Amino acid sequence: MRMEDCLFCKIIKGEVPSQKVYEDEEILAFKDIHPAAPIHILVIPKKHIDSLAQMQAEDEEMIGKIYHVINQIAEEQGFKENGYRVIVNCGKDGGQEVMHLHFHLLAGKSLGEKIVG
Ligand code: 5GP
Ligand code: ZN
Repeated sequence: MRMEDCLFCKIIKGEVPSQKVYEDEEILAFKDIHPAAPIHILVIPKKHIDSLAQMQAEDEEMIGKIYHVINQIAEEQGFKENGYRVIVNCGKDGGQEVMHLHFHLLAGKSLGEKIVG
């Protein structure tokens, strides 16, 4: 898809407002507009990547850093000890609606309904 049409690219550029939680040169985290848990944060690369299926070898380091940022947020917001869940929806069968790679970070309650594990 074209970056000009991408909602999350607009959020990165500040054209669409968001409640930012973390930002550096390659990663942005902001609150989900329809939270599915008391804490629901979206962590995204600033580089437009449609979905996990489109990631390249060159993105490995940045995606590793996303997990590190998730841990930092958990530490800062005080839910690292109680735990959290990270979800990446990919493509049609994965239920992805916004075609810009994003990591859902959910916390703040027992997330109960497990799909795996
Ligand atoms: P997906 O279903 O693609 O994995 O998740 C997309 C997520 O983006 C959903 O949880 C949805 O609530 C969130 N979302 C959609 N539009 C906006 C928006 O304009 N602002 C914010 N902060 N989140 C959004
Ligand atoms: Zn985008």
